[in-house]
Amino acid sequence: MGAFFYTLHSEDQDQARLRTIRDVELARQSIRTRLLSLQERLSQLARSIDGADTDKALFQRQAKALLSDTPEMSSVAVLDTRRNIRMLNLHASSPLNRSLQEGSQVGGAETIWAFDSAKSTGLPVFSPPFLGPGNGVYMEIHSPAFKNDHFVGTVVATIPFTAMLNDAVPESFTKLYMVSIVDAQGKLIASNASRQIDRPKMSHEVVLSPPGHGLKLRAVLYKTSAELFSNMLAWTVLGLSALIVWSFILLYRHSKLRNQAEKQLLAETKFRRAMENSVITGMRAIDMDGRITYVNPAFCKMTGYRESELVGMLPPFPYWPEKSYRIQEEALRLILAGQAPRQGLEVQIRRRDGSVFDARMYVSPLVDSEGKQSGWMTSVTDITEPRRVREELAAAQKRFVRILEELDAAVVVEEPDAPTRPPIFTNRLHREWFAQAAPPIQQRIGGAQRGFEPFEWLNPVTQRWYEIRRRAILWVDGQTVIMQVTTDISSRKEAEQINRQQQEKLQFTSRLMTLGELASSLAHELNQPLTAIANYTTGGANRLKTGSVKPADLLPMLEKVNAQAQRAGDVIRRIREFVKQQEPNRSPCKIDTIIQDAIGFSKLEAKNHAATIEVNNPDPELVVMADAILIEQVLMNLIKNGIEAMANTPFEERRVLIQISSTPHFVLTEVYDRGAGVPEDIREKLFESFFTTKSNGMGMGLNICRTIIEYHQGQLWVESATGGGSVFKFTLPTHPKNTTPTQSGPSSKEHDA
Ligand code: ADP
Repeated sequence: MGAFFYTLHSEDQDQARLRTIRDVELARQSIRTRLLSLQERLSQLARSIDGADTDKALFQRQAKALLSDTPEMSSVAVLDTRRNIRMLNLHASSPLNRSLQEGSQVGGAETIWAFDSAKSTGLPVFSPPFLGPGNGVYMEIHSPAFKNDHFVGTVVATIPFTAMLNDAVPESFTKLYMVSIVDAQGKLIASNASRQIDRPKMSHEVVLSPPGHGLKLRAVLYKTSAELFSNMLAWTVLGLSALIVWSFILLYRHSKLRNQAEKQLLAETKFRRAMENSVITGMRAIDMDGRITYVNPAFCKMTGYRESELVGMLPPFPYWPEKSYRIQEEALRLILAGQAPRQGLEVQIRRRDGSVFDARMYVSPLVDSEGKQSGWMTSVTDITEPRRVREELAAAQKRFVRILEELDAAVVVEEPDAPTRPPIFTNRLHREWFAQAAPPIQQRIGGAQRGFEPFEWLNPVTQRWYEIRRRAILWVDGQTVIMQVTTDISSRKEAEQINRQQQEKLQFTSRLMTLGELASSLAHELNQPLTAIANYTTGGANRLKTGSVKPADLLPMLEKVNAQAQRAGDVIRRIREFVKQQEPNRSPCKIDTIIQDAIGFSKLEAKNHAATIEVNNPDPELVVMADAILIEQVLMNLIKNGIEAMANTPFEERRVLIQISSTPHFVLTEVYDRGAGVPEDIREKLFESFFTTKSNGMGMGLNICRTIIEYHQGQLWVESATGGGSVFKFTLPTHPKNTTPTQSGPSSKEHDA
């Protein structure tokens, strides 16, 4: 485009130059013609002048005609041989008016030169340009006049260059060019410039001859509107070119981006293809009519058919086994109806080689980017192996459950910390045993071993005993669960019970035996002295009856009786001494410790009767003066009686409460039970020896208890408990160690003393 414009431009320039040269040449011709015709006219005028006697009127007439014909000329004059103006005719408006007068001599250097040249050559001569009036530059044409071959002067025409230029150059020319005349040095002499040209586009000079003297005609081309237009065109084309270049750049960038995107797309496609090839799940797409539109390599591998064989195929498909044709048809119908189950369909697929495998199909609608469904995508997985594993697992599970079910113990598996939720697993025995009542829920703390001690429990409904063991285990799904194993220990319990009863009986028998022995030895020991005393006193009495006896005779007998009585006394003393050896060993001890020990010994008894023992002791530091072992015995006896008294009390009410309180002088211990209570009339009888209402009772317990308490300077008595049952109360003196202000009075010391 640039080259084209450059050529166009230079062509244009050349054209312009040629035109300029031609035009300038034309202008020169025009000037030349004018000047030459002027010169000719002046020569004619010179010829008509004959020296001094020239007819002035004739000259004036001819000069006038000349001036009017050549308006560029300012004046016409006739000079004599001494350059005096003989005759003169000039335009009224000419600035020469003032400088030229008839009779005066003209004497500018240029005039003299031209005059002399004309005179010497005898030819018309153009003077060099000179500065005249009104700052105008003028030239003169001197045409020599001869009379009889004698030089008689010249006819001079004065022409201002400006006027000559204006008249000689056509107006059309001056519109296009600035036309000027310059001298040999390039100095401007005249110009038609109507406006200034800053940067001349093109100029051309030609030598002007006439008038010669190195004068040149110069034309400078103005910028024309046509050029302007072509410029505008050029700019427009240039602008358009720039636009094209810019759009090329944009296009380049765009295609670069496109290239990048294409590359990315290619990479993505490759990745997808690789992924598709590596997937082990078979994929098959069908259109809404059931025609296969796509299968992936995994599907081909699974079935043994090539992609080209399957794609485009309509059902029935070659991989449908004949046996399960109907199932396959039904499955396809479901898929096409959009009713394929979410958990998938199980079908059989026949490979090309005829072998058949189990597969699971998952179906999802194939929806394009505009949300239109174009078919169904089915993923197919070979489940032969998973199914085998599953079946094996199920069989193992069955065996495991069977074993658990047939176990001799009740098993239940529960989630920890969620006792209200149904258990994860229960076996048959658990369901049977605990249909009506379940064992109490012990505290369960995560997987820690705390709270997992085995415990025994009496089912209140079936009245059977169970041992319950709990353990935190890892369940099959990995979560920590609580497994509870319950074994029926009723027979063991019964055996224990029988054993204990036998023990008790044995104890009782031995106690009886001891008692019997004691009694018989006592009887035996006392029998002799008493028999002797009886004999002596009988003999003495008989003798007194006969009257044959003297008082002195009775003395030895009485002495013997006394001795025997002494002996009996000794026996008794010995027994007392024996008893004395068992005397309580009183020392300061904490009542709380005694109670806790007694409860510890009674726990088994309480458990066997499903009773609980509670203590309410506001001051565990309370100290009494007592033989701890004896007081323990008392408490144990009272607890045992309380428990036995509640045999007909409902389970949940079987509770023995031990309540402690203190006064400054003594500590009061109360043992409450919720048994049948004691009728008012037999209250005091309870404390008698051998009073019992029990088949295997001895009736010695309360009696001994009272003895022990009284020995401790306390009291033991029974009252009816409010709300049913009875309460056995006993007091024990406090020890001065109890430093509470109310207990440290002098009276307490006195009491102790
Ligand atoms: P045993 O317990 O061997 O019968 P005890 O002297 O300990 O001898 O008791 C005597 C009797 O007092 C008992 O047989 C019973 O009838 C009655 N008894 C004792 N404690 C209570 C009690 N807490 N409630 C009702 N009766 C009781």
